[in-house]
Amino acid sequence: MSEDTQPMDLELAPRVDADIHYEEDEPVLFEVTEHVAYLTLNRPQVYNAQNSQMLYALDDAFARAVDDDAVKVIVLCANGKHFSQGHDIGTPGRDFDKAQERRLMWYDHSNKPEAEKAFAREQEVYLGFCKRWRAIPKPTIAQVHRGCIAGGLMLAWVCDLIIASDDAFFQDPVLTMGFPGVEYFAHAHELNVRLAKEFLFLGERMSAARAYEIGMINRVVPRDRLEDEVREVASRIAKQPRLGLVLAKQACNHIEDLQGKTTGIDAVFGMHHFAHAQNSLVKGDYIAGHNLNTMAKSNKKKG
Ligand code: ZN
Repeated sequence: MSEDTQPMDLELAPRVDADIHYEEDEPVLFEVTEHVAYLTLNRPQVYNAQNSQMLYALDDAFARAVDDDAVKVIVLCANGKHFSQGHDIGTPGRDFDKAQERRLMWYDHSNKPEAEKAFAREQEVYLGFCKRWRAIPKPTIAQVHRGCIAGGLMLAWVCDLIIASDDAFFQDPVLTMGFPGVEYFAHAHELNVRLAKEFLFLGERMSAARAYEIGMINRVVPRDRLEDEVREVASRIAKQPRLGLVLAKQACNHIEDLQGKTTGIDAVFGMHHFAHAQNSLVKGDYIAGHNLNTMAKSNKKKG
């Protein structure tokens, strides 16, 4: 059977030949200083919108830091105005349609029809990667400045510690697009349940001071202290024994899982994809016709 006659039988869809223009060759920078690996999100022009190019590069960088015996602690930080504006929903480097060399046991999303396409892709690049990064056997610290929005929260939340500057803010506005929250639904563990509901229902910015007050982040420091503070904390952790660190991390993560964190995230991922499918059916687009501009406008209104 030729390729032309197979798709219907195999329930495949034509691949979309997307016009992708990457503005950065290195969307994640990697540097090791004094036993600390610094992984820097590097799409400053688009406020570190997360395309697949960036997420696969980040996975590579995490793997490199894990493999390097000289690295005791991993810091995730960002270049540019914001930590991350979230998933890429409309920059010229948006590569939703592009097939990727996969890391987890998922099939190619790019030639699958409709809801299956987003489901297969997000199983790997959002849900799968986040679970994999949360389990990294070395301490991780998110160094957050300014906006940490939607998918940006996912990157901060999978880290063990979050240290933010006083100008940082946290926001998940995706209910506007019909979703119960971003793909990695840690909201009700990172916040208490009542605050998680407020955070989701209103979709408003939460200040670093408020995030600190409710225990979602470890420290808030003035913006010009952020790098030094993170470096000092990382270097103190780096002096601790490697195995003790991984055991302490696993112990804490295990208790979170006994409280239902991962099973909850897996369950809500299904709801998230029901919302994608509903968007496709009702709005003809899996993210309800939204793009960077409409979300930015809606976020500004929320303040
Ligand atoms: Zn999604």
